[in-house]
Amino acid sequence: MDVVSLCSDLIKCKSVTPADDGALEHVTSFLRSLGFETTALTFSSPDRSNSVKNLFAKYGNSKGKILGFLGHTDVTPPGNGWEVDPFAALQRSGFLIGRGAVDMKGGISAFCCAVQKFIEQKFDGTIEFFITGDEEIGSPEGIPSLIKWMDENKHTPDDCLVGEASSRENLGDRIFLGHRGSMNVTIKSSGKQGHSAYPENYENSLSKLCRYIAKMMDYAWKHEDKRFPPTNLEPTLLFTNNYAVNVVPDESSANLNVRFGSDYDFDSLKQILLEEAKEFGLSLEFHLSGESYYCDNEELKSLLSLAIGETVGIDPAFSAAGGTSDGRHMIRHCNVIEFGPLDTTMHQKNERIKISDLQKLEEIYLTFLQKYFA
Ligand SMILES: [Zn+2]
Repeated sequence: MDVVSLCSDLIKCKSVTPADDGALEHVTSFLRSLGFETTALTFSSPDRSNSVKNLFAKYGNSKGKILGFLGHTDVTPPGNGWEVDPFAALQRSGFLIGRGAVDMKGGISAFCCAVQKFIEQKFDGTIEFFITGDEEIGSPEGIPSLIKWMDENKHTPDDCLVGEASSRENLGDRIFLGHRGSMNVTIKSSGKQGHSAYPENYENSLSKLCRYIAKMMDYAWKHEDKRFPPTNLEPTLLFTNNYAVNVVPDESSANLNVRFGSDYDFDSLKQILLEEAKEFGLSLEFHLSGESYYCDNEELKSLLSLAIGETVGIDPAFSAAGGTSDGRHMIRHCNVIEFGPLDTTMHQKNERIKISDLQKLEEIYLTFLQKYFA
């Protein structure tokens, strides 16, 4: 099967997270047709309120290295304002358009088709697929459970390629070696309600909260490990229990999202945020999405760079920018490298991938496989 057909078939599955709509089954039957041993794994939360479909697939022999490929078949909701049906996989002006074209049905299709060509020749080693139906919500029943199962069943690869979008302006111009960590903070502020013309009678919960947010947005974060972009803190939500223009609210809350490199971790950030909040009398709750990670494996870097250079004539930059990926869960078990198509339209309306990029991505992955198992 060619990469454009496979990607189109996957886009036509309305796998809006956490729905699957046959997307995982489609990858499974494709890999089975190549001779892969596939294992369907549905993991459920302890209270059974959430279940996620996952796929583990394996092909090869025990004589060589094990290369893993990590991906997800779920997509974000399409939202409104598309020029075309987001699930019709239409082709226009050299682009394949649809939700998931970039994030990340394109990457999965390109790697599947590269593997199809690669295994026509004999090789020593093993290729493993780790595909989840829930990356976008990121529930524990997705990749974290799949990796736990992998560990318990001794299927840990030596290295893992994550096929998420990583290129910026031209296919091949950027490889992710890691990502910053991400944490969310919920802040609650209480005061005393009152008429805004009588300051002696109220305590404004919202002004305390705003002063704290402004202070933290101006905080002088250190930036010593330059492999990562600087730390940034953004307010993402602001609520208050008042809708009248002359009433001071007694309850307000906000959410912050913090992205941080290795200069900080969850605990050190928590300490700073709590310390700085003391003078305002706020209550803070913290939720970690993932710590930062960076994998500086010279062999993987050079094999992938060579494959990109030979295929598209570009010398890729190494970066730890961008949002965190499921690679953060795999990094505790093996080397991780992330490479895929242009990130410009992911999670946007009219998400699209250049058809020639999709074909070149397959070629890059194929060249990488040949070098990796050489
Ligand atoms: Zn993704």
